[in-house]
Amino acid sequence: MTTVSPNRIGHWIAGQVVVNEGNTGPVFNPATGERTSSVEFATAADVNDAVGAAKEAFPEWRALSVSRRAELFFTIREVFLSNREELARRVTAEHGKTLPDALAEVARGLEVVEYCCGVPELVKGEYAEQVSTGVDVHSVRQPLGVCAGITPFNFPAMVPMWMWAPALACGNTFVLKPSEKDPSAPMFMAELLRQAGVPDGVFNVVHGDRDTVGALLTHRGVAAVSFVGSTPVARNVYETATAHGKRCQALGGAKNHMIVLPDADIDMAADAAVSAGYGSAGERCMAVSVVVAVGGVGDALVEAIRQRISKITVGNGAQQVDMGPLITREHRSRVVQYVAHAPAEGAKVVIDGRSATPGGQGFFLAPSLLDDVKPGMLAYDDEIFGPVLSVSRVDTYDAAVQLINDNPYGNGTAIFTRDGGAARRFAWDVQAGMVGINVPIPVPAAQFSFGGWKNSLFGDTHIYGREGIKFYTRGKVITSRWPEAATSKVDLGFPETR
Ligand code: NAD
Repeated sequence: MTTVSPNRIGHWIAGQVVVNEGNTGPVFNPATGERTSSVEFATAADVNDAVGAAKEAFPEWRALSVSRRAELFFTIREVFLSNREELARRVTAEHGKTLPDALAEVARGLEVVEYCCGVPELVKGEYAEQVSTGVDVHSVRQPLGVCAGITPFNFPAMVPMWMWAPALACGNTFVLKPSEKDPSAPMFMAELLRQAGVPDGVFNVVHGDRDTVGALLTHRGVAAVSFVGSTPVARNVYETATAHGKRCQALGGAKNHMIVLPDADIDMAADAAVSAGYGSAGERCMAVSVVVAVGGVGDALVEAIRQRISKITVGNGAQQVDMGPLITREHRSRVVQYVAHAPAEGAKVVIDGRSATPGGQGFFLAPSLLDDVKPGMLAYDDEIFGPVLSVSRVDTYDAAVQLINDNPYGNGTAIFTRDGGAARRFAWDVQAGMVGINVPIPVPAAQFSFGGWKNSLFGDTHIYGREGIKFYTRGKVITSRWPEAATSKVDLGFPETR
């Protein structure tokens, strides 16, 4: 059970649900506007208990053979696969995204678990013999100890899996502080990990807000912090964690541009812009937020996008719709302001989502489309994180790339063209961590690593894949020399081996 009373969500510490009757935060179903539960906010003492449990579990977990850990990861994969619909339902009930989208989120997270099934290959070291006479050198990668993960509301299942899977596979123990807005999926993951046979204390969950995060970032028992969320918080988390001697990777916000060259397939580009702009109500860090129309392509492209928007259905993500609600009422009000202010800033409102929004108490907002959006306008400069797609028009490829490279964010970007040379040049020129060529949301496959540039990432390593393994381990190099073999002088009692 994840809750003691059905409406109160506790922490998960040492394999137990812990409810301390302290401060709580509200959890809503954003499709109905109904408050469905309260989530406990961890105090410094709760955080200390969770870190203590993780610390206690560490020596035994670290000592588990790598092959046994790999075997356990195969079991984790099976348990998660059998429960993926329930996990996805919990995501939809608190986040609002459609059930197929939530299932896709779980599937993408599971790809990281699958990658971790290969942990024996991933953590093996190197060996060099006879580097000097009679001297050999080998390297190993060892776990760090207790690692903490702080995650955003928009992927309550997948982003924690980006963190705990490689951390645990490498032999670390873990304390997760998920978003307080949708805490049920992470709690269900804790139960599934226990079902799979992960020992108590290896994976813990504490809920809360900035105070809970502060207690984790300054706790002496935490060796490393992974963070995914907005840029101001990412910067602060990185500065605080590193000032307290911790390794840190902090992934921040985004403003992703998709360039459409005049030779692009307009239907393909419009389909991509619509799915990447409005999927998950635009609440994705890899969402396309600005479509950059190059040369004369703008009019046809805006028309193709407009036609597609009129077919998008908005409603409860648990039913058959294309798009669910936004996460909170406050966030919806903030997103609406960008559409409301757009004309005064000189942009054109092609579609105003407010007019097509379903009634009721849900936090719905139908898709909006803005045209002639430029740097200096709020709709361009801010990460809106909602179903508002902007079109910027420029004359040349160089001007389009300049727009992206001048932007303070550098998460994902994409180009739509039939010209291989232009695509190759774009991949070379553009300052962003993840690039799509006729692919609007280039989230790297699990054997690569995910991460942006500039204000989209603070730290040196990207998340999951090889860089994730590097982040969650530290290197040790052993140089050894042995006295001459004694076997010729002393009878070791194993004559048959001579
Ligand atoms: P957020 O920054 O508000 O919250 C992220 C986490 O930090 C949550 O667990 C939250 O409880 C905690 N937090 C919030 N304020 C804090 C503070 N002042 N001090 C310490 N901790 C604090 O982000 P969000 O609204 O949950 O998620 C949306 C943001 O996350 C967007 O900016 C999006 O681009 C970004 N995001 C980035 C990626 C990426 O991979 N780069 C992926 C997903 C989301």
